[in-house]
Parts: sequence; C-alpha cells; structure tokens
Amino acid sequence: MSKFWSPIVSRLTPYTPGEQPKIARLVKLNTNESPYGPSPLALQAIAREVGDSLRLYPNPDAEPLKLAIARRHAADGISAREVFVGNGSDEVLAHAFHALLQHGKPILFPDITYSFYPTYAGLYQVDYQAVPLAEDFTLRADDYIGQGEEIGGIIFPNPNAPTGCLLGLAEIERILQGNPQRVVVVDEAYIDFGGETAIPLVQRYPNLLVVQTFSKSRALAGMRVGFAIGHADLIDALERVKNSFNSYPLDRPAIAGATAAIEDEAYFQKSCGMVIASRTALVEQLEALGFQVLPSAANFVFVRHPQHDAATLAASLRSDGIIVRHFKSERISQFLRITIGTDEDCATLVGALGRHLAAVV
Ligand SMILES: *Cc1c(COP(=O)(O)O)cnc(C)c1O
Repeated sequence: MSKFWSPIVSRLTPYTPGEQPKIARLVKLNTNESPYGPSPLALQAIAREVGDSLRLYPNPDAEPLKLAIARRHAADGISAREVFVGNGSDEVLAHAFHALLQHGKPILFPDITYSFYPTYAGLYQVDYQAVPLAEDFTLRADDYIGQGEEIGGIIFPNPNAPTGCLLGLAEIERILQGNPQRVVVVDEAYIDFGGETAIPLVQRYPNLLVVQTFSKSRALAGMRVGFAIGHADLIDALERVKNSFNSYPLDRPAIAGATAAIEDEAYFQKSCGMVIASRTALVEQLEALGFQVLPSAANFVFVRHPQHDAATLAASLRSDGIIVRHFKSERISQFLRITIGTDEDCATLVGALGRHLAAVV
C-alpha cells in the first residue's frame, strides 16, 4: 500500500502465474507449455525479422497474421474482419471483459475455472457469479440459461481449466441460444488437444466470441500471441479498446512467427498428436497407481489420489525435481494438475509417484 496508489490498485487481486523456476534440468509440468518446440518454419520466420527492420513499428493491425488465421478457418466462412489478435490470449480476454462483458450486471463463469477471470473482473469492476460445476466437475449448460438481461455475459474455457473437462458443441449452442442478448466468450486455450472448436458456430451466433492462443498447441508461450474469432461487431469492439490502449501489441517477430506457425499445419498436427498419445499412456499409468483422473481433452490431466494428500505429493515431486501445479482453493485442494510432457518426462513423473506411494503406505 502507498499513498500514491489509485483506489482501484489497492483493491486488485492480481493473478498468480505458475512458477517459472530458474533451476535448469527440472521436469516442468506446471504451466501447460508444449514439451516440443515451435514449428521450425516459425523459428525461421522470427529469425528473418530480427534485423534492421526492428527500427520500424510493426503493422498495427497485424494484418498478415489475421489473414493467415482467417485462411485456416475459411471453410467456416471466417474473414479477417472476424479476427482479432493480441499479446497473448490473456490480453484478448482482458479486452473482452472491458469491451463486451462490462454492462453493470454480474457475469457468469464456473466456480472452478481459469483464475484470471476473477482478476479481470476486479480490474474492470465487473461483478460475477461463480456457478458451481456439477459433482463430477462438468459444466451444466442449464445453469447458464434463463437469466436474460439480468446478467452481463458468460465466459468459460472449453475444455475447462484446470479440470480438462470438455463441453460438447451442442451444449455450447444451447448456451448461445439461451443468451441472445449477451456475449458468450469461449476460451479455447486447449481445444486443439481433443475438443471440437466452436468457430463453425460464429456465422450463426453473433453473440459468440471464441478465443484461442499460440501458447499451448503451437508452443509459442514465450512469444505472447492470442486471437479471437467472432462477428465483426464484436471484433470492432475489441479493436476500439485495443486502439485506446496499445496500438502495437504484437511486435514484428511475433507477427511473422505466429503467421508461419499457423501455416505449418503438418507440424501442428504432429505435435498435438504426440501430446494426445502421451496423455492416453499417462492416464493409464496414473490409474494403475490408484489415481482418479478426470477425463481430459487438454494437454494436462487433473488427478487425485484417494489415500494421498495432494500438497504432500506436490512437495515430494518437487524434491525429485518435478514441478506440477497445486491449487489451494477448497473444492480442488486434493487435486494436482499435471502438464503432459514428453514420454520421458511422463516416465520420470510416474517413477517418482510410484516411489512416493510405496514409501508412504
Ligand atoms: C494458458 C491459458 C490462457 C492464456 O494463454 P496466453 O499465454 O495468454 O495466450 C488463457 N486461458 C486459459 C484457460 C489458459 O489456460
């Protein structure tokens, strides 16, 4: 606290990102980064941008990237006017709160979800209702229908984080139909690991904003690129906020790298396929150790062991040089969120867990 702070700063509860440890040679399974590098074509495109041209401001609209994203979704009728890009999808989400969810009414999101949502709600002074997930941690579409204009909007990740549970497109469509006067933001940070994107619904639902990121399935977390696809009116609102905030959120290497990454479909399919295969194998091994694993459509699994305390397990893994994510909030305090690493990372994890369980029992 300082007398120099504005009132809103004292009231903020900032988001706490997963740790980025400085120690090398850790098995880092705590922030859902890709275990495989970015597309080699993206790395070449980035390298080409590092030179004299950095004197010059980048394209303020990141036009080449918007066009590349639109081309990839052309079959769903998406054009560049329906694409917004930002400095990581966190920035895109922040602009969505500001531009589309702030109506002086509470918004809805699940009680167990991405913990940045309450933070943005605080920053933009948006009230919210945390809607409890079902007992099995699935999202019930009915809980998001019927409040009409009493709510300011809806936001949830699909698959949800940190549970990994997927909601089907038919359920998402019911939520959209049930809220024609409000924007529904679907945060698809993990959709490429086994879910079905809602982008094909954009042409039919002007209240749908789909947000995706280059950080997870395209292995560019260090570069900060995210995007949204929605009706041109929604994109206009985001552009108005963006152009009142920072004209150049994406630098030259980011525009070039992300454009090359989204054009390298083969590399993308291959690396997602490898993560999915490793996830299938890991789930089997964890279940064999007695863990309960929530069904995951993401690049992480959310697990608990009926006989072992999650915080103790996390500490024991850490002493073996393996970092996973443990959340303290009550309903999930006995769960660990474990990112899918390489098969070698997974084997190291399973070995360490096996040793710990054997030592304690
Ligand atoms: C990782 C994540 C994001 C944000 O990623 P960026 O790196 O900012 O693009 C957004 N939503 C969810 C649910 C995430 O897990």
